Amino acid sequence: MITGKTKLLGIIGYPVEHSLSPVMQNAALAHMGLDYVYVPFPIKPENLQQAIASFTAIDNLVGFNVTIPHKQAIIPLLSEVSPIAQAVGAVNTVWRTENGWSGTNTDVEGFLAPLKNLSPLPPLLIEERGSQNLSASNWHQTTAVILGYGGAARAVVAGCASLGCANIIVVGRDEQKLNYFLDSWRNSKLIDKLTVHTWQKFPELLSNADLLVNTTPVGMYPHVDVSPVTREEMDLLPKGAIAYDLIYTPNPTQFLRLAQERGAIAIDGLEMLVQQGASALRIWLQQQDVPVDIMRQSLRQHLGL
Ligand code: NAP
Repeated sequence: MITGKTKLLGIIGYPVEHSLSPVMQNAALAHMGLDYVYVPFPIKPENLQQAIASFTAIDNLVGFNVTIPHKQAIIPLLSEVSPIAQAVGAVNTVWRTENGWSGTNTDVEGFLAPLKNLSPLPPLLIEERGSQNLSASNWHQTTAVILGYGGAARAVVAGCASLGCANIIVVGRDEQKLNYFLDSWRNSKLIDKLTVHTWQKFPELLSNADLLVNTTPVGMYPHVDVSPVTREEMDLLPKGAIAYDLIYTPNPTQFLRLAQERGAIAIDGLEMLVQQGASALRIWLQQQDVPVDIMRQSLRQHLGL
């Protein structure tokens, strides 16, 4: 029930109708019995500055998420931007402070969450140890191959760097865009580990991948039968590698099906979506304990999974 004391959270984007954040955030807020509501704010790019200035005047607006096309454009409008958001070059979570709006990027944390207790290992080693729950140090000799160089790929690159991957390889179809992507990390410490390649080199790169991440929309509903990686190519993926698709519908994607047939550990995009939302909620409510299971369940129900 909305009361005179209801506090406001939301998401800005354009368009924003497709966003699943209101579903999971309102499910969490209701479960916690909090007098909050999370609403979508469709804001045209040309109105962003005015909208953010107006938000300051709404006293009960605690914070908001940011989605396409505002993730980069909002940065100069914030009084503070976290180091991780600066590294990624995008903000997805904003909260009110005494000095104005502060922003960070919880996509990196969301991406990392399902990987925390996993480690890509040769199958023999997995058999020997009987478990994949190994320490994070195992990431230090690994190679991550990332398909695509868009907004989500930036969070994935930052995530792979924080895992400690030795090689971070980005594969894309446009050489100019690849070079632009590489150049955008020039001032970052991770630049020494990062290389970019076109798809021609992909089969060779794949045979050395410990972690393969799809950040392209190829295979997303309704194009459920396509995969950015063919069956023949997937046969080159080392057994025991991790295949991670950022797409959450369908679930699993054709990419993940092929990877599983190959014996890979498969991770879908739903958990990243849930975990980036849970991180944002922790920031707004200033508490660690948020109902992640309820958020996940509400999304699965909404998506018919
Ligand atoms: P984006 O900025 O538009 O980037 C898409 C990337 O995919 C670009 O590099 C694009 O390359 C490439 N691409 C598109 N079509 C391609 C094709 N047919 N073949 C090869 N490459 C292709 O989008 P984004 O924001 O990064 O999102 C990408 C995907 O991640 C979407 O499916 C989105 O739903 C998902 N995502 C999931 C989460 C989550 O929480 N699970 C979070 C963010 C994003 P060109 O520029 O050359 O077209």
